[in-house]
Amino acid sequence: MEKMRESAGIQALLSERTIIIVLLALLAFFWSVDLVDSVAALFVFVIIASLLLRLEFKKHRMALKLRATESKKLEFNKHGGIKSVRANTLNAVPLPILIIGEDHRISFSNQAANDLLGSDIINNDVYLYLRKSKIMKAIKSIFEGGKKHAGVVRYTNKQKRSFDVTISRVSGTGGDDVPTQAMAFFYEITSMLQTEQMRVDFVANASHELRTPLSSLIGFIETLQGPAKDDAPAQERFLGIMQSEAERMVRLIDDLLSLSKIEMSRHEVPETIVNVETMIQSVLLTASKVAKERNIEFSCEIEKKATKAIADPDQLMQVLLNLCINAAKYADRESTVHVEARLSKTRKFINVSIRDEGPGISKEHLARLTERFYRVDNARSRKMGGTGLGLAIVKHILLRHDSMLDVKSAVGKGTTFSFKLRRA
Ligand code: ADP
Repeated sequence: MEKMRESAGIQALLSERTIIIVLLALLAFFWSVDLVDSVAALFVFVIIASLLLRLEFKKHRMALKLRATESKKLEFNKHGGIKSVRANTLNAVPLPILIIGEDHRISFSNQAANDLLGSDIINNDVYLYLRKSKIMKAIKSIFEGGKKHAGVVRYTNKQKRSFDVTISRVSGTGGDDVPTQAMAFFYEITSMLQTEQMRVDFVANASHELRTPLSSLIGFIETLQGPAKDDAPAQERFLGIMQSEAERMVRLIDDLLSLSKIEMSRHEVPETIVNVETMIQSVLLTASKVAKERNIEFSCEIEKKATKAIADPDQLMQVLLNLCINAAKYADRESTVHVEARLSKTRKFINVSIRDEGPGISKEHLARLTERFYRVDNARSRKMGGTGLGLAIVKHILLRHDSMLDVKSAVGKGTTFSFKLRRA
């Protein structure tokens, strides 16, 4: 349409120009044959001059019109472009964002908000999704109080995801007719709250674990100072118990220090080539002291090509020791613990497993086994001198080795702990 109008204008200009040229040619011809007197010539010149003026005026008007349509086009592209860039940018933000109108209806939601609240939330009342009076009050205060920010409100959904929601005012820009709206920006804090909770639990558990032997020590000291002051046999017995309680505290502190050391090195990838066979033999020698007391034997099978792995030698030693000592502690008396190292199917890894013929662990405990201070049987673990940190240490060391502890157990039959190591 635009183009048609443009070409019609150009044609009109051409036809006027042709008329002028024809008139000039005729005038020149009549002049040459002396058929035109000076008055007639002047008259024709005036007509030609007025035509030329009209022509110039038309040309100017057309140029102005063209410029106006061009600038309108530019303006349109600019606004449309900016709007779509804004929407795309908000969609690319990985945190949920809602734009809410004065009637509390959602006028825009980015992709993350759709993932959190649902894909068909546009035009619905925000209260249907954020049923929290504090959030509604904050939105109201944006429209009624004219505030720029209405503060931060904590929001937790049914799936236990928590967010700090910031409600702020979004003002419409002068030229267009976008009204003032409220923006809800969701900042996810789920993992931060979980870490915080874990820290609080850890401090509480560690203090509790240390307090038990400490209270026992204080009790015995008071007994030795009072009722057992002159009772030599009782003193000897109590001092024995005090020593084992003190040793328990030392073990606990050693394990806590180990854990924090492992956590500090968790991003350093191990690069040492270790001999798995020699390491297992050395660990079995240490663990057999505990095993002998309960008539437990170790059997060891190492595949020929499954001897060299890439690992941190001290940490791998600790993993093997914790698992073999656990097997010696918890397996049935007079049974055998099988330690094996085999090549994986891809031949890239060495699979190490420790299988015992013990009481086994029921399903509900398996998922929590590597939590700090988690024990299946509290009394038994304490009697065996356990700190409840052995498997947590194993898990964190294996994480650093890009591996995981796999536990398979059948109640009444036994448990198998296994993990893989990168082959050297
Ligand atoms: P602990 O110091 O109590 O042994 P661990 O973290 O090493 O702590 O183990 C956690 C719990 O897992 C133990 O208390 C025990 O109940 C259970 N457990 C570990 N190894 C075995 C096993 N081989 N057989 C049966 N239960 C086990």
